[in-house]
Amino acid sequence: MTYENAKHQIENKKIKLARFLKFNKQKDRKHGRNMTPCRKCGKTEGVINKYGLRYCRQCFREVAEDLGFSKFS
Ligand SMILES: [Zn+2]
Repeated sequence: MTYENAKHQIENKKIKLARFLKFNKQKDRKHGRNMTPCRKCGKTEGVINKYGLRYCRQCFREVAEDLGFSKFS
């Protein structure tokens, strides 16, 4: 379960929400994998940063030919 889903479930429970926000808040990251999400879908896994693409591998397959890449294998 993601942070957003867990927060949504207890939005109407004031005290639980306060405790949740106090103890489960996400870290402010300055670098790392989560700082470069895919520009199309927002995934953080399998993101291609080479040539400044910033597409995840799934989205890259969809837009690769439009960008001028051609398939060789
Ligand atoms: Zn993507």
